Amino acid sequence: PKASSEIQSLANTFNMMLARLSEAWAQQHHIGERQRQFASDVSHELRTPLTIVRGYLQSTLRRSDNLLDHQREALEVAAGEADHTIQLLQDLLNLARADDGYMAYDLQILILNDVVTGVVQVAEQFSHRTILVEAKASLIPIYADANRLHQILVNLVENALKYSDEAEPVRIKLEQVDKQAVIQVCDRGPGIPLQQQSRIFDRFYRLDEARTRSMGGTGLGLSIVKVFVEGMGGQVTVRSELNEGSTFTVTLPISAVSL
Ligand code: ADP
Repeated sequence: PKASSEIQSLANTFNMMLARLSEAWAQQHHIGERQRQFASDVSHELRTPLTIVRGYLQSTLRRSDNLLDHQREALEVAAGEADHTIQLLQDLLNLARADDGYMAYDLQILILNDVVTGVVQVAEQFSHRTILVEAKASLIPIYADANRLHQILVNLVENALKYSDEAEPVRIKLEQVDKQAVIQVCDRGPGIPLQQQSRIFDRFYRLDEARTRSMGGTGLGLSIVKVFVEGMGGQVTVRSELNEGSTFTVTLPISAVSL
């Protein structure tokens, strides 16, 4: 239908502009504090109206039973693009803040098991998938910023679900090794070729642009994971075999003393 393809092409143009703009921000490692603040303000200012646009689109879709097919399709495409762009802006905001240390980490002792349970419950509800949590101990302490830790887990779990078959469960393993909390997110998806394993943490890097674009996501998820984990004194690594699956491992200190 005409309306929907017009919206689609508009949305694509807008997304492309946004992606170029943000790539330019991301790649300039030496931009000053004021420019980063500007990037962060712009992200913030754009998010508000877009969230309102998405809200109206969604409520119109919900409340109208007499829409023609092409009208419904057009609204769905528009809502989907608004959603993607909001996610992109949120990711950029996170990165802009993390980059210049502007975002202060609110570090405190948390119980890792509880944070994981919260993320798993929401992810299971949204995806209708099973996530198995295997914890070596029921109270594993972790010294982290609650919001950042939450975001790290969400990004890894969303990827594991997104890139693996619906029939395959996603596993999360938790343990404490010496002064570190270790979190593993394992999937039985397609795996990541060895040559590309170090690059997936780069901004906007995606294995297969055509395939992954249709799955949603911004190509920023893992770079955010890396920035946050390292910002809290930890490390993130990947181990993956083609056709076997991938395991992302995050280690974080369990107390302020071990930082
Ligand atoms: P996004 O998922 O939004 O594309 P990410 O930064 O989270 O961006 O991931 C970068 C790329 O790494 C993805 O596009 C995908 O190609 C690959 N990837 C990430 N997680 C997995 C996974 N669990 N299994 C297979 N490939 C993955």
